[in-house]
Amino acid sequence: MISPHEALEIVLRESPRLEPVLVPLADAVGAVLAEPVAADMDLPPFDKSAMDGCAVRAADVAHLPADLAIIEELPAGTAPARPLAPGACAKTMTGAPVPPGADLVVPVEDTETLLDGRVRIVRADAERTNICPRGEDVRRGETVLEAGRLLRPAEIGVLAAVGRDRAPVFRRPRVAVLATGEELVPVSSVPGPGQIRNANSSSLLASCRAAGVPADDLGVARDERADLRAKVEQGLGRDVLIVSGGVSMGERDFVPRVLQDVGVTIHFATVRMKPGKPTVFGARGRSVVFGLAGNPVSTLVGFHLFVRPCLRRMMGRSDAAWQVLEARLLAPARARDDRVNFAPAVLRHDAGGWAAVPLPTHGPADLVGFSRANALLMLDPGAYAAAARVPAIPLE
Ligand code: AMP
Ligand code: MG
Repeated sequence: MISPHEALEIVLRESPRLEPVLVPLADAVGAVLAEPVAADMDLPPFDKSAMDGCAVRAADVAHLPADLAIIEELPAGTAPARPLAPGACAKTMTGAPVPPGADLVVPVEDTETLLDGRVRIVRADAERTNICPRGEDVRRGETVLEAGRLLRPAEIGVLAAVGRDRAPVFRRPRVAVLATGEELVPVSSVPGPGQIRNANSSSLLASCRAAGVPADDLGVARDERADLRAKVEQGLGRDVLIVSGGVSMGERDFVPRVLQDVGVTIHFATVRMKPGKPTVFGARGRSVVFGLAGNPVSTLVGFHLFVRPCLRRMMGRSDAAWQVLEARLLAPARARDDRVNFAPAVLRHDAGGWAAVPLPTHGPADLVGFSRANALLMLDPGAYAAAARVPAIPLE
């Protein structure tokens, strides 16, 4: 049995980064840039007023008050018709170009309009020009985004500003989700005797979506080799197949056998962890497949620890591995069995740094208890006193 860390390493090693594609900006948030992007023009593209006010020549306002003739009005979106002559000024709005010759925009609050139509400048501060010179942010041809950058809303704005309506990013994986189990009924049904609602398909599809990857629902496979095999084949047409349930030692836990039947190379099938000791990871061609233990908490823990890093790696993210923080326990904790325990906890930041409250849980089926957690404590077997420092992995 391998350790969770070893399992993560194998997953990251076997998850290929996908090829670059061009996607519309509207679909690019959360993706990773595959090549650098350069500015197609200077930014700002012209000497721009940062204020509503009057563009003036500094020499004309050296002695105040100064009365100047308005030669032009320049709202945003217009271009100056002529340079500013001595003794003249131009009314400008925020975002409008300032005329050549102007080296100061006096804010409107520091001006008065005279009855003869001229403007009286009553205050002027030569230190604050209120002009953003052309190219002060970036010069044409300069790199504005490096390859590998995660595209957040600000980066999307940068792409738009330099004229890219499509972004070269690493393709997001295509994912399929398959639940297994005779006992499963759809969410909208009332379970009969021995039946249970299929919670995992919904939580896995939501997990994919939260990771920025859309996923298809392949429904439920019965605990029967032929049905499972057909649906697994379908799922292996995607980049990633996530199967829940059917991975334990039971007679009807067919997932590992079926994966082998269809030619999947199994990289590991058990991990020294709790929950989720039976966790299967394999590959066929360029597709990978996860078999997660079916208990709803085990499924989500398995997703967070292994599937999410795989998806991130495929999308080209450099932060694919776990983010591990050191947290101070606010109550004692105990890790049972011979395996690393991933225990649900509430993590928060206080004056002493990260602090964690371990949550009571009835085990790997207690989805309601687990839903209150925002982190997993990673506990080697043993007893932990309050104030002990332990590793914690945030869930969001
Ligand atoms: P298995 O891993 O198939 O042995 O399932 C372990 C436990 O998880 C059993 O109690 C199953 O009924 C339950 N389980 C399996 N799949 C699901 C699912 N999709 N939704 C809710 N519970 C499930
Ligand atoms: Mg089952």
